[in-house]
Amino acid sequence: MKDYATLRDIQLDLSRNAITCEDIVKHHLSIIKSQAHLNAFLSVFETEALHQATLIDKKVKAGTAGKLAGLVVGIKDVLSYQHHPVQAGSKILDGFIAQYNATTIQRLLDEDAIIIGRQNCDEFGMGSSNENSAFGPVLNSIDTQRVPGGSSGGSAVAVQTGMCRIALGSDTGGSVRQPAGFCGVIGLKPTYSRISRYGLIAYASSFDCIGIFGTQVEDVARVLEVIAGPDEYDSTVSQKPVPKYSDEIHQPSKKRYRIAYFNETSNSSGIQEEVKSTLFNTLDKLKESDNTLHAIDFPLLEYTLPTYYILATAEASSNLSRFDGVRYGYRSAATTNLESLYKKTRTEAFGKEVQKRILLGTFVLSASYYDAYYTKAQKVRQLIRNKIKEILSNHDFIIMPVSPTTAFKLGDHTTDPLEMYLADLFSVLANVAGVPAISVPCSVDSLGLPIGMQVLANDFEEKELLQFSDYLMKLN
Ligand code: GLN
Repeated sequence: MKDYATLRDIQLDLSRNAITCEDIVKHHLSIIKSQAHLNAFLSVFETEALHQATLIDKKVKAGTAGKLAGLVVGIKDVLSYQHHPVQAGSKILDGFIAQYNATTIQRLLDEDAIIIGRQNCDEFGMGSSNENSAFGPVLNSIDTQRVPGGSSGGSAVAVQTGMCRIALGSDTGGSVRQPAGFCGVIGLKPTYSRISRYGLIAYASSFDCIGIFGTQVEDVARVLEVIAGPDEYDSTVSQKPVPKYSDEIHQPSKKRYRIAYFNETSNSSGIQEEVKSTLFNTLDKLKESDNTLHAIDFPLLEYTLPTYYILATAEASSNLSRFDGVRYGYRSAATTNLESLYKKTRTEAFGKEVQKRILLGTFVLSASYYDAYYTKAQKVRQLIRNKIKEILSNHDFIIMPVSPTTAFKLGDHTTDPLEMYLADLFSVLANVAGVPAISVPCSVDSLGLPIGMQVLANDFEEKELLQFSDYLMKLN
């Protein structure tokens, strides 16, 4: 198959009969097969995807195909696709079949996207390397000794290698942007409440966002405009109208931007030199193109990671209480009474990281520590949001690295959890503040490993964020 830059190019050829959806699906299936050792997919819906393709090919001929005809999508194993398995990368959901479609999945299908399979991830989205999956780690195709990032590692690698054109992941503290950065693709986390969470397996509900992986800003924009917007099944979704992002990304409303960056991100000693120099090169190029740059002190940055880990684990301990061996998936065989059924099921089927987080979250919510940790973290979260909103009222964007280093080796951070949590240092900020953020591939280090730049924008400014990302990618 020809190397198509964008979905628009594919659709042009579909309308000219130069290619069929069946050809496209076969193309992706062959890559999935040849790259099976990367462990990116947990299920491949081969027969179904091919069948779907023939139906959409008929619609293309009849001129009735939807906006996403020709698009092949993979979904992280946290999104419900009716009659298909969904397990959040966990043994506790062994054998569980989704009862209904997540709103995002329904909207993709309604516009004739083809869902090719479900993708490996860290258990319940808890991780930064995809090493916490009950199905084994995902490997980064650039260097298979290295992690793809997490928790949506399977989705990032699938897009990186062309197993699918677009993947949907979830981003609670960076799980779309960080693996996108490690794999050299685009990863968008929209504003909290822009996209319905109906049918997304919850990790930390006040942070969880469905995000989009792609290689082209235009494709990401097109998918966003299809899946975003009000939903009667999720009352937390914003009622704000959804712009036609894909029509507008190539015509920036502004030619010059006011951009902030933090002294704390550029001075920090824990950042890999090449990540730092990529940040400065990007800033220099932006300055040369007449944009205004401001270095800002953001001392709250050091509180962002602890705030995230206190609140996210608290919410997780509550959300994961539903997996009790009675209602879903796995049930221990060695139980004697109800209490042992709960205990044994949860002990046998939750992985170590998930257990640790449930314990930590339950601790910060316990009566004696609630005010000292949970209430305090809520207050700090508000301070962080206020400060970010203030900065974004004077600037169009904030620029920072996606993560302090490029992709690390498998096993490098598995012994010390703090080292692993530090990989999220820059990505949790957008979730704590609730604002949209994107990871854009910018450069590579001396080993050829991708370096992503992160851009944060004000609430609901996805259009501006996508326009700027397009500009940034052309600048590099
Ligand atoms: N790495 C972070 C965590 O483990 C973020 C995960 C995510 O965004 N799902 O919590």
